[in-house]
Amino acid sequence: MENLKRRIHQIEKKRPGYKEMLRFYERIKREQEKVKSSLNLCPFSLRKEWKDLLKQEGFSLIEKKDFPIDIGASTNLFHTLCDFGKEANPHMAQQIRNIEEGLLKKKIDLVEILRSPFDEHLLTPAIPKLKLDKKVILFLAMESIRPSIEASVDGLRSEVEIDTWLKGYCPICGSKPHLSLLKDTEGKRFLLCSFCGYQWRIDRMTCPFCMNSKSDSLHYFFGEGEEAYRIDTCDQCRTYIKTIDTRKMDLIDPVLEDLATLHLDLLATQKGYQRSVPHPWIP
Ligand SMILES: [Zn+2]
Ligand SMILES: [Zn+2]
Repeated sequence: MENLKRRIHQIEKKRPGYKEMLRFYERIKREQEKVKSSLNLCPFSLRKEWKDLLKQEGFSLIEKKDFPIDIGASTNLFHTLCDFGKEANPHMAQQIRNIEEGLLKKKIDLVEILRSPFDEHLLTPAIPKLKLDKKVILFLAMESIRPSIEASVDGLRSEVEIDTWLKGYCPICGSKPHLSLLKDTEGKRFLLCSFCGYQWRIDRMTCPFCMNSKSDSLHYFFGEGEEAYRIDTCDQCRTYIKTIDTRKMDLIDPVLEDLATLHLDLLATQKGYQRSVPHPWIP
């Protein structure tokens, strides 16, 4: 946490406009760390058939809905994050008031959302009534179950071969990546799962979303004076992914670096590309 705090201060100095968002992020991380030490999760074991399927057919190891979640701890964390969010920015504060109204009037089933924060249909009836921005509530739910998810992923790492998967979706949970990283002296490319945080390899010249590898339709651009971050775009599916070159920096937390460079996302959006996974801070 101390390294994270130091890095946040560095970024704040360079980009004061990001201060509130970064403070919110720091508070979330601190609470998640606290929760991690006292989680109560049902152990689950993988069956051998599943591991064989992973190898032969390219199925991911488990389904998102099957991750064990500590619902009690996640519910408490959700309410704490709502308190923090009220101070993060006016839009989030308003959304949290709407969410609280929905909980009070039982128009939102929090336990169900914590079990499946990837299932947007759960919110469909509540969205118009409560004027919900689903990105915000799903973000808060996702961050509330993150300690449970990360604890399970730690137990699954040894089951997956990080170097041979080479697909555009996560070998553990099947989700899309939200960031890409260049590592090692040769600049091997890794993708970072948007749901479980696992990292796996992919070819450098491949779009992870449509597997396009034609060089004339894959491009990238940097922010001014920010060579450690680039936006990789694909003209075939019009999607982009942010790539962090970890050889050019001491990487502490890729998600923090993502937040620190949201101006690049705005540029990518203006150029007509969309982000693979919705982000609560990108309109
Ligand atoms: Zn995953
Ligand atoms: Zn593509």
